[in-house]
Amino acid sequence: MPRYDLHSHSTHSDGLDSPSAVVRRAAERGVDFIALTDHDETAGLAEAQSAAAVSGITLVPGSELSVSWGEHTIHVIALQIDANNNTLSEGLAAIRVGRDARARRIGAALEDAGFPGAYEGALQFVTSERLISRTHFARYLVEAGHVKSTKDVFKRYLVPGKPGYVAHTWATLAQAINWIHAANGQAVIAHPGRYKVNSAGMRELLGEFRDFGGDGIEVLSSSHTLAQFAEYAGYARTFGLLASCGSDYHGPGESWLDLGDLPPMPAGLTPVWSRW
Ligand code: AMP
Ligand code: MN
Ligand code: MN
Ligand code: MN
Repeated sequence: MPRYDLHSHSTHSDGLDSPSAVVRRAAERGVDFIALTDHDETAGLAEAQSAAAVSGITLVPGSELSVSWGEHTIHVIALQIDANNNTLSEGLAAIRVGRDARARRIGAALEDAGFPGAYEGALQFVTSERLISRTHFARYLVEAGHVKSTKDVFKRYLVPGKPGYVAHTWATLAQAINWIHAANGQAVIAHPGRYKVNSAGMRELLGEFRDFGGDGIEVLSSSHTLAQFAEYAGYARTFGLLASCGSDYHGPGESWLDLGDLPPMPAGLTPVWSRW
């Protein structure tokens, strides 16, 4: 059985490894199909593709799109996209545009919370001038010795209700799905277990997603517990969505799953790759 890891990040967004390093690590860890899914970005795919050819594994071209659904930020994974598609590239560029202004506001909010120079500090951790994220603020605050771990930074400062959180409007769910489909890709709801919605809210989200033409749901994710693997397998069956799996790798030791560290897909699901 080939091994699939369909969610990972490089230095083109908030990962710590270059695209080639991600692909090489995936190959070393026994992954046969690796998707690079940088946030709102496809610029690392060409390098990843070359590295995959050298390593003898298959690169699945992807991205992870930031979406606003009501007050919630939802991530939609794009898989098997044509990265040269203009509709998708322009859509991703439109999502990225707001990130710098948002980051300056996060910096100002953190300054008010007692961390002067947070924006400049975060910039030192940015690895692509096209993309600044909350992760870069988190890494800065930890490296500067202000907070113990990036997990703590998020919990105490960067999530809704906390002093460094800045609301932001990303793409709509329909836009994200349409752009991905324009590029002949599959649209997959990322790490559904992370969203702060109850089961009625989850059914509403997945129902809308499917009605807009969304294709799949990430069942296996490092954001999920073992119980959530089973829970989201159930949602996949109920909503007739394809099942996906991804470690959401950001760098060595950054989450409890490394590249390829995924259990087998639960039975009775149709995986995204059945359509490739
Ligand atoms: P942004 O797109 O700028 O809102 O940043 C989102 C990124 O922050 C996610 O892709 C994760 O990499 C990271 N992140 C979000 N929540 C947490 C958390 N609780 N702990 C660690 N990293 C997180
Ligand atoms: Mn990330
Ligand atoms: Mn995500
Ligand atoms: Mn991700």
